[in-house]
Amino acid sequence: MTGTGSKFSSGPDRPIATSTPVGDEVKYTTCYMCACRCGIKVHLKDGALRFIEGNRDHPVNGGVLCAKGAAGIMMQNSPARLTKPLKRVGERGSGEFEEIEWDEALAIATDWLGRIRASDPRKLAFFTGRDQSQALTGWWATQFGTPNYAAHGGFCSVNMAAAGIYSIGGSFWEFGEPDWDRTRYFMMFGVAEDHASNPIKIGLGKLKQRGAKFVSVNPVKTGYSAIADEWLGIAPGTDGLFVFALIHELLRAGKVDVDYLARYTNAPWLVIRDDGAADDGLFARDSDGNPLCWDRDRGACRKALTADVAPALKGTYTLPDGRQGVPVFELLAERYLDPQYGPDAAAAVCGIPAATIRRIAAEIAHAAFEEEIVLDLPWTDWTGRRHEKMIGRPVSLHAMRGISAHSNGFHTCFALHILQTLIGSIDTPGGFRHKPPFPKHIPPLPQPAGWYGEVQANRPLPGPPLGFPTGPEDLLVDPDGSPRRIDKAFSWDAPLAIHGMMHLVIANAWRGDPYPIDTLFMFMANMAWNSAMNTAETIAMLTDKDAETGDYKIPRIIYSDSYFSEMVAYADLVLPDTTYLERWDCISLLDRPIGDADGPADAIRQPVIAPDRDVRPFQDVLIDLGARLGLPDFTNDDGSPHYPGGYADYIVNHERKPGIGPLAGWRGADGDQEGRGPANADQLAKYIENQCFWRQELAENQKYYKAVNRDYLAYAAEMGFIDRPEPIIIQLYSEVLQKFRLAARGHGPVLPPEKHRARIETYFDPMPFWYPTFADAAADAGDFPLHAITQRPMAMYHSWGGQNAWLRQIHGSNRLYIPRGLAETLGLDNDDWAWVISRHGRVKVRVRPMSGVNPDTIWTWNAIGKRAGAGNLSPDSPEAKEAFLLNHLIDELLPEEAGAYRYANADPVTGQAAWYDLRVRLEKALPEEAGETVPQFPTLKPPPSLATPPAVLRYGARAAKGGRP
Ligand code: SF4
Repeated sequence: MTGTGSKFSSGPDRPIATSTPVGDEVKYTTCYMCACRCGIKVHLKDGALRFIEGNRDHPVNGGVLCAKGAAGIMMQNSPARLTKPLKRVGERGSGEFEEIEWDEALAIATDWLGRIRASDPRKLAFFTGRDQSQALTGWWATQFGTPNYAAHGGFCSVNMAAAGIYSIGGSFWEFGEPDWDRTRYFMMFGVAEDHASNPIKIGLGKLKQRGAKFVSVNPVKTGYSAIADEWLGIAPGTDGLFVFALIHELLRAGKVDVDYLARYTNAPWLVIRDDGAADDGLFARDSDGNPLCWDRDRGACRKALTADVAPALKGTYTLPDGRQGVPVFELLAERYLDPQYGPDAAAAVCGIPAATIRRIAAEIAHAAFEEEIVLDLPWTDWTGRRHEKMIGRPVSLHAMRGISAHSNGFHTCFALHILQTLIGSIDTPGGFRHKPPFPKHIPPLPQPAGWYGEVQANRPLPGPPLGFPTGPEDLLVDPDGSPRRIDKAFSWDAPLAIHGMMHLVIANAWRGDPYPIDTLFMFMANMAWNSAMNTAETIAMLTDKDAETGDYKIPRIIYSDSYFSEMVAYADLVLPDTTYLERWDCISLLDRPIGDADGPADAIRQPVIAPDRDVRPFQDVLIDLGARLGLPDFTNDDGSPHYPGGYADYIVNHERKPGIGPLAGWRGADGDQEGRGPANADQLAKYIENQCFWRQELAENQKYYKAVNRDYLAYAAEMGFIDRPEPIIIQLYSEVLQKFRLAARGHGPVLPPEKHRARIETYFDPMPFWYPTFADAAADAGDFPLHAITQRPMAMYHSWGGQNAWLRQIHGSNRLYIPRGLAETLGLDNDDWAWVISRHGRVKVRVRPMSGVNPDTIWTWNAIGKRAGAGNLSPDSPEAKEAFLLNHLIDELLPEEAGAYRYANADPVTGQAAWYDLRVRLEKALPEEAGETVPQFPTLKPPPSLATPPAVLRYGARAAKGGRP
């Protein structure tokens, strides 16, 4: 494993740069216009920003730069940039702020937070949006001692992450990728253009060059789907049944990789069949806890993880204790060969003809088994068995929020991994590949902290607030079963909420359910607008007061953002952040790394220009607050700050474990160690010298079969990716889920309260199953016959570019895209006005009929609508008057049923927000209703000293005349 260079070549196919220099200096850093973290070169002239181009040597993008990345220039020129700390002096939402100095702002925050920490740290709810410093923010929460911490994952794609981590030890995007160079058949499910954006574009280009087939499964034919070889316009929320039908067909035809299943998965592990017993459905194990299988050669139970075992995949066997045991594969075949999972049953629900499903299954089988890849690469598995070749099944899948953000998303995502595993395409040539530091053991460490007795005044938590439960004992519940976290993550409401449930924080805090909080501390999370379900009511909750005391029900709100977003108006204390071009950052292997399947990588951002406002990087502020509060890792014994140099100091000198810190490159006193090693004072300089990234290339024999590859496992343990060099066996059947199910049946030390039992019993099925989304199954679903979803465009990342002068020209307003057949039925034409009505609310919008959309689905671009005044835009901007959000139609809770407990509008396993379960009906608006979108809210007043926006924001005009840009 050597090298810190790019995986992209720079041979003769790389053309000579022909553009003339536009500046006098170039600095490398990492883009932050979406979540992909491409490498960029920033051209400066006289110290001012002039031009951004992609870094051709960078491992993420190889020089590719999207529209958003190029438009980073206009984030720096945005009149929405906050300029100074703000203290609220009027009512929340009034926009009445007083500018204050940083000392006062930090003193206020320290006072509020210090009092909480000295009494009950749970009274702090600290949640961040799509920030890229979760290794720091999570650590800070741990040191503070509050379990009430998470980032945005609970309302993004936690179903995808959890289903992957609990089955294959990894997942898509940051955790894994298709083998772009070898795959022959690629299927993409519900992917927006921001999840691995440039890497996917590069990968799709490779597929097109090689003639590999690309099938896109998405209700809408836009973005990547538009260039697919085959588009399947599936009904939202039914992907799981489609995948099960493919599994059904593969099983029926016997097109599964038996050797792969027997060796590298738990397919042969014996499951105890003993109705009513406390261990019914768990794995049969020996006295040392080793899972057992049935050895066909010896006619006896043996340790499943034995090199010379010949495991049975089918049948029923007598266990050593006389009870019956069944191999996982037998259970799996029994379930998915049932006609309810066949193509005919699926076709009616998914809107994909049965013949198409059968053909797709046959194509998968053909690519996997008739186009098998054999690499002359000897490797050794964990038992010491030497394999002369690497066998590959060139079928790969990729999926993200589209299938994830449903109330059946966890099981759908789990099903995708079953499909890949059955054909032997997990981390084999041509298939899905893990990216180091993944795969991890299943489930990985740690378990979530914040358990009963672990939250104490002035004490850190004994571990991080987010983790991976192994069973009911790891839940964060009080002895009576009630949730210990404000968002109810890791409770019986959502036991595997491994990314938290940010979408519930404000509503729960407002209700005081499960308890009231004191301070809500948020960073770049626009919860008063596009990040909230139920936007109007969320605003009402943020401003609601206790009738008796006159105090806000959420007493204090601290918010940090770079820009005047809608949420700023509702904060009591605003801590203005810098732009991404003005600060240090760290894209760490401890967080969500940027490596690829051939090797781990991490990166930094360096300040390429200095702020021209009185703003500070949020990470610096957090570290400063940590020192002022006396948090252990942020303070020396004498009370002085442990990281006086702020985040840059922390990045270099913090050690999470001995020798393991935020950055893996150039460790050790001489900078010659990788992965592990003492801190190196010159580490950041080394990164800058290497264009702000570090990457290590795996040895050839480590690149595939990582989960069971002896050499890779040893390397991963040495690097600190895993804690022991033991095999990671794919879990087709999840014993963790079964433990929860057994608790629902009354077994074990931690039992769910009665009201949760039926739900836990149903959804904690150890093998994935399909059920309609809660919205589709609702009694009134017929009143709302259409699915309503959003897509994210290539040129806008959520609301981040909403005040970017260049990106606004591409997406300044949005329309509701509707199927042509529906348009004809309702008499709607381009730009006509219509009402979209859900159970929860109504919005008035302009429509645009289109082909290429599922006939029962309407959709729009995400987060284009803005509240009037937000982003320092003109109150009559198109974003305010023509654009709209679907958020107003969505409730954060499931509908009220008489006497029933109201669960979150979320997946019951992980708590993933069910954004795409929305059902609506469409009605043509009356002619007199044309005019502007509804709802409209009072115009937000910009904070003092925000720049006065010009009528037309131009960039470069002065530079063209020889002046500063
Ligand atoms: S995909 Fe575009 S916006 Fe996202 S990080 Fe890469 S260049 Fe930046």
